[in-house]
Amino acid sequence: MTSNSRNSVRWAIIGASQIARSWVAGAIKASNRGELVSLMSRDQARGEDFAQAFGIPKVVTSLEGVWDDAGVDAVYISTANARHREIAVAAAAAGKHVLCEKPLSLELDEAIEMAVACEKAGVVMATNHHMRAAATHIAIRDLVKSGAIGKPLAARAMYCEYLPVELQTWRTTDPSQGGVIYDLTVHNVDALRFALGLEPQEVMSMKASSLIGQNGVEDQTQSVIRFENDLIAYSHEGYAFAHHETALEIHGSEGGIYGRGIMDEAPSGHVYLRRGKEMTEIPVTPVNLYEGTVSQFNAAVLDGGSPTATGWDGVRSLATALAVRESCRTGQKVAVPQFASGVRT
Ligand code: NDP
Repeated sequence: MTSNSRNSVRWAIIGASQIARSWVAGAIKASNRGELVSLMSRDQARGEDFAQAFGIPKVVTSLEGVWDDAGVDAVYISTANARHREIAVAAAAAGKHVLCEKPLSLELDEAIEMAVACEKAGVVMATNHHMRAAATHIAIRDLVKSGAIGKPLAARAMYCEYLPVELQTWRTTDPSQGGVIYDLTVHNVDALRFALGLEPQEVMSMKASSLIGQNGVEDQTQSVIRFENDLIAYSHEGYAFAHHETALEIHGSEGGIYGRGIMDEAPSGHVYLRRGKEMTEIPVTPVNLYEGTVSQFNAAVLDGGSPTATGWDGVRSLATALAVRESCRTGQKVAVPQFASGVRT
């Protein structure tokens, strides 16, 4: 453990990205027991601009500038997807705790390598599946766990939105790391896994480049996913939908749960419990999803315990997304690799 004597985690952000600027830098600063001490950007001017906006005392332009800094305990990896693996493995070797953006990597073996490297180095590894910290998602999980809807039979996750124009860069043009599967399918799968407490077993999927996807990059995907206990889920992700409400639904033998407008970066939406034709809203107190994620990460580093989504959660959710990708490519049903206690079976 590399926590310092002030009982707080000293963070470096790697990559001056949009998501770091919009949410995560502020969340680290606002988190319980976290400090933002360093920013690494390959571009000095971009790094300085970012650091000034958040009052970050140090800017470096090389990864070594983070690894060699004894005043950094943890890194938030916020680069484009293709660089996550290399950086996470190097961070573990340098003894830094890791919060990595999703998708953990582009290939399953790479993601496993990251999780194993962190485990071997004895550092905390988390995946930024931020919706696990949402009051709405926690309420849904608790309803399912408490038996409020009886036996869960089916589920639906819809993460469809119109991708803001400023984000229509590598996400919509680069077939090697862009597209909704790497970006949103991992979130839908993780949200389903979190709510249900079940693991996906096999998928059947189709994709399309309907409106803004270029070079064959998919801007929507629809999948049917069979989970454990023979539960069947539908998952729809899209970049091309300006008029679509996001949703997460769980349907059970004794009731249904409707999460409306809850697949988001901001705390938003409502949760309802349906019995017969009666809908009752479940009260939730909105919290900042990224602050919740970072605060729990800090606690995992300082006190032990688990972050909201572990490295292995990132591996598992990616494994299903890659099965979706493969099913889209082949037109065939694809089995999802399974893991027992972090080991692929
Ligand atoms: P960006 O495209 O904004 O940034 C990616 C990298 O590009 C940065 O790390 C930065 O690296 C560099 N960069 C930033 N601005 C520019 C620019 N103007 N010109 C050239 N390079 C630039 O990435 P996103 O924020 O969209 O995504 C980053 C990661 O976060 C992805 O893995 C994504 O999947 C994930 N993500 C997660 C979300 C969540 O809620 N969990 C939400 C959104 C994204 P450098 O400074 O070193 O040059």
